[in-house]
Amino acid sequence: MIDVFKEVRERVSAEDAARHYGIEVNHHKALCPFHSERTASLSFKAGRYHCFGCGAGGDSIDFTSRLLSLDPLGAVKELNRAFALCLPLDKGPTGEERRAARRRRESIETRREFERWRAETLDLLTDAYREGYQVELYKSIVEMTDTEITAVTWLPALDYWIDLLSNGSLSEQMEIFRDREGVKKRCQMILDGLRMKSETA
Ligand SMILES: [Zn+2]
Repeated sequence: MIDVFKEVRERVSAEDAARHYGIEVNHHKALCPFHSERTASLSFKAGRYHCFGCGAGGDSIDFTSRLLSLDPLGAVKELNRAFALCLPLDKGPTGEERRAARRRRESIETRREFERWRAETLDLLTDAYREGYQVELYKSIVEMTDTEITAVTWLPALDYWIDLLSNGSLSEQMEIFRDREGVKKRCQMILDGLRMKSETA
């Protein structure tokens, strides 16, 4: 990874920048663009500039950034363009941008997983509800086995979960999601119990 600031500083002197932006330089001296003056107190030396009048000073990046009111990176980009330095300034995303992108991807992934779970659970709940409802519909309580009574007892809860998963708010659905193992086990118990019963009957 090259240091583009260092590169610009080494390849473009403050004097080069000053000349490029129309400042008349004679014997490494010029009228300072940063304060009003009649005699030249801006001096260029070793790639840098210094004004003995107002105290301004620095390298070509400082000079350009101050002259054109750019931030340092803006000045680097400007000099890169103006002096055709061809430095690779269009860097990839920063660490923070990469982290933000990863968080977005993860939250999309979480959302997908959640949706998958919601669809599966709705199927399971609906199956369990349908089976239990058949029992409730066609059998009187005295005819029911223990498994069937349990299934019927759970109907209101199943109905409530189905309703929340279909129409509830995300936080209501999340509450079921937190207890997903319990909900699944409950449905499975009802279904297994009723199916076993119907098989042996
Ligand atoms: Zn000055």
